[in-house]
Amino acid sequence: MQTDAARTTRYAGAALFSAPMWDAVVLGLGGVGAFALRALAKRGVKAVGVEQFEPAHDRGSSHGETRVFRHAYFEHADYVPLLLHSTAEFRALGESVGRPLIEACGTLLVGERDCAVLASAEAAARQHGIDVEGLGTDALRARFPQFNVPDSHRGLFEPGGGFVRPEESIRAALEEAQRLGAELRTGVRVERIEEGSGGVKLHTSSGELRARRLIVTAGAWTAKLVPALARRLRVSLQIQAWITPPDPSLVDPARFPAWLIVRGDEPPLYGIPNDQRAPGAVRAKVALHGRREACDPDAPRRALTDDDIEELLRVVRRWLPALGERVADAKSCLYTVTPDDHFVVDRVPGMDHVCCVAGLSGHGFKLTPALGQAVAEVSLDGSSTLPVGFLTLARFSA
Ligand SMILES: Cc1cc2nc3c(=O)[nH]c(=O)nc-3n(C[C@H](O)[C@H](O)[C@H](O)COP(=O)(O)OP(=O)(O)OC[C@H]3O[C@@H](n4cnc5c(N)ncnc54)[C@H](O)[C@@H]3O)c2cc1C
Repeated sequence: MQTDAARTTRYAGAALFSAPMWDAVVLGLGGVGAFALRALAKRGVKAVGVEQFEPAHDRGSSHGETRVFRHAYFEHADYVPLLLHSTAEFRALGESVGRPLIEACGTLLVGERDCAVLASAEAAARQHGIDVEGLGTDALRARFPQFNVPDSHRGLFEPGGGFVRPEESIRAALEEAQRLGAELRTGVRVERIEEGSGGVKLHTSSGELRARRLIVTAGAWTAKLVPALARRLRVSLQIQAWITPPDPSLVDPARFPAWLIVRGDEPPLYGIPNDQRAPGAVRAKVALHGRREACDPDAPRRALTDDDIEELLRVVRRWLPALGERVADAKSCLYTVTPDDHFVVDRVPGMDHVCCVAGLSGHGFKLTPALGQAVAEVSLDGSSTLPVGFLTLARFSA
């Protein structure tokens, strides 16, 4: 019989093995968790994924119909192999489930002529042989007249970039994971993680789960579950809006790429063309990258105000007046940001059986296939075949 002491202290590993035991639990089935579960299932591991809501819900960080993907990565050239791997995985998974998950409509970066972001993207492209095309001001205006760019600005176009469908990708990854034998527990919230010598015990809203290893992919909730990471993660509320343009052809992906405009020290403005597979009216998505409004993922501000919309429209008006101001929809979404804006893929300090992916810092969806596979490998084998060494926690102590 379990005593009160056993409930509150580290449990004895031996007792654990006498109970039903999973080889692995994935905690949180958003973008990364869905791909981690798929990677475990592909390896034949007896795995279960636990999700507090329903998959592809709209309360975390992976909703909003579309996400930009690109490979000439200004954030850090070391991401490029992971990006190429992820794009290939999205494509392969889409073929496997019979629904395309990505659209290569190209991506466009716009900034001052000597802008560091464009220079970093060019350097990453050179280093990894990514096809990009520099556009001077006149060429940029001629090719993409939707943008109102000053003479001081130029563009960098990557034809192999585009957008990915996040909710579709999560559903597809989970579908494949289940087909390969993984199980899902949805509508189940993990309240507490307890570690012993033989594995972990999860205290959930529907009883206990035991496993030899745990992968935490809890997005904005990570700090609540893994206090060791709390001081490295900051959650903020972001706003994504959809604009219906006066002329639908303006946002057709054949002539309007996914794009990002660097605005000095102000949050970049970015957007995504109409997704022609989405039902309903033609519309483009727009957002500011990196708003600083702090937020508790369990009590987010879900109702957006006129001021929120005006904050965004003010910038759209300046850079893309042709889109007009008819806002068809707007939704909040959460970023979880690390001090250096790079992700964490590592073992959790002080927990031998627990790995995590955290702090995707507003640019992680495009990498979820690689991150899911990498953390599954770190959990099973101790290291990954993918180059994720630059994403360990050790960089913060250094
Ligand atoms: C507005 C916006 C725009 C973005 N644009 C881009 C972009 O263009 N390109 C790009 O690459 N990235 C982009 N990102 C970033 C990217 O979408 C996120 O980094 C990524 O989706 C995060 O995935 P995740 O798996 O870490 O988190 P999530 O997808 O939020 O998954 C975490 C999951 O864990 C579950 N969970 C948490 N706690 C518990 C618990 N206790 N018990 C059970 N389940 C739990 C949650 O319910 C959730 O489903 C954007 C993000 C936002 C918000």
